[in-house]
Amino acid sequence: MEQFNKSQETHLWYTEYHTPNSGITLKVKETLLRVKSPYQELVILDTYEYGKMMLLDGLVMLTERDEFIYHEMITHMPVNVNPNIKKALIIGGGDCGTLRELSKYPFIENIKMVEIDEEVVKASKKYFPQLTSGLSKNSEIIIGDGIDFVEKTNEIFDLIIIDSTDPIGPAEGLFTDAFYSNCRRILSENGMMVLQAESPYFHADSIKIFSDRLKRIFGFITPYIAFIPTYPSGMWEFIICTKKELDTSLKSKSLIGDFEQMLKYYNHDVHSGAFKLPTFVKKIYGI
Ligand code: SAM
Repeated sequence: MEQFNKSQETHLWYTEYHTPNSGITLKVKETLLRVKSPYQELVILDTYEYGKMMLLDGLVMLTERDEFIYHEMITHMPVNVNPNIKKALIIGGGDCGTLRELSKYPFIENIKMVEIDEEVVKASKKYFPQLTSGLSKNSEIIIGDGIDFVEKTNEIFDLIIIDSTDPIGPAEGLFTDAFYSNCRRILSENGMMVLQAESPYFHADSIKIFSDRLKRIFGFITPYIAFIPTYPSGMWEFIICTKKELDTSLKSKSLIGDFEQMLKYYNHDVHSGAFKLPTFVKKIYGI
C-alpha cells in the first residue's frame, strides 16, 4: 500500500480566529474572488468541507453548506410567531439568503432590502446563485446605507430584519441608540425587529450591552438560538424586539406546511425549542 506522507502535503488553509487562541480552519481548493470595495474586503474561497465561502474583512459570512441554518432561522422564526406581515425590510443581507427565505411567503406584499455594498450582491449572484434565485417579484434591492434609510423613511414595516456584519466598519452604526430608535419609529404596533446577536458563548459581554439597549428602546426582547457550524462557537443568538410582549407560540401550523419540505433546519419542533435557552445564556439576559 502506498504510504501517504502528510509532511509532503501542500495545501492552502484558511483560519478565522474566534479568540486569540482558537478559531476555525478550513482547507481551501482555490480563491475565486478577492475585491476591495469602498466598505470592506470581500473574498470568496472554495473550501473542501463547506463548499464556497464568503468572507468580509476576514470573517465568515456564509458557506454553501451551512447557510440554510442562519437564513431559515432569522426569517421563519419571526414570521411564524406573527404571520400578519405585509411589509418587510432587510438591512444588510447582501448575499440575498434572507430575501430568498422571506420570498417564500406569498402574503408578504413588499420586501425591501437595503445593502450598503453592491459588490456583495454582485458576488452572491455570480458565486451563490442558490441564494439569489427565486426572489419575490415584490422585492426590491436598494443599494445604500441602512442607517440613512431608516433615518429618512416614513414607511411603516411589520418586520425589520437586521442581517448585518458585526459592529465594526460600515455596520458600527447599526448597533446604536439612534439606529434602533429609528427602527422602532418605522415598526408597526404589532411589528417585530429581529437581529443576529453574535455568539452567547464568546460574546456574552457585548450581547448584554446591546440587549439592554434594545430592551430600553423597544420595551420587549425575546432571544433564541441556533446551531451554525462555521460561526464562532457554533452557538448563535438572535433577538426579536417588539413594542408589546411577544407570544412565541406558532400561530398557524399550516403556515410553513406548503414548503416545509424545502426547509432543512426550521420546523415546528425547532420553533419552540429555539426559545428555550441554556442557563448560562439566560444569565446574560437576567432571566
Ligand atoms: N450572516 C452574516 C453574518 O455573518 O453576520 C451577515 C451577512 S450579510 C453579508 C451582512 C451585510 O451587511 C454585508 O453585506 C454588509 O455590506 C452589510 N452592511 C454592513 N453595514 C451596513 C449598513 N450600514 N447598511 C446596509 N448594509 C450594511
